[in-house]
Amino acid sequence: MKWIWIGIIIYAFIRLWRATRMGAVPRQRPQPTKKLGNEMIACKSCGTFILRQSALMRGGEPYCSEQCQKEKI
Ligand SMILES: [Zn+2]
Repeated sequence: MKWIWIGIIIYAFIRLWRATRMGAVPRQRPQPTKKLGNEMIACKSCGTFILRQSALMRGGEPYCSEQCQKEKI
């Protein structure tokens, strides 16, 4: 009889542990892929991908270098 109770207690413990563990694990939130300044954009002239942060903007279009800006013009 003693062993049955021990078994029940262990079983209950495992159930409880699993339940708390499942509840404790936070659901993975979708991470924002777009970070300001880290977005990759293509150069309007040569198509090279560059960081928006480092892009040379002219007339609302991104360029990778001054040379590309000149080529476009
Ligand atoms: Zn370019």
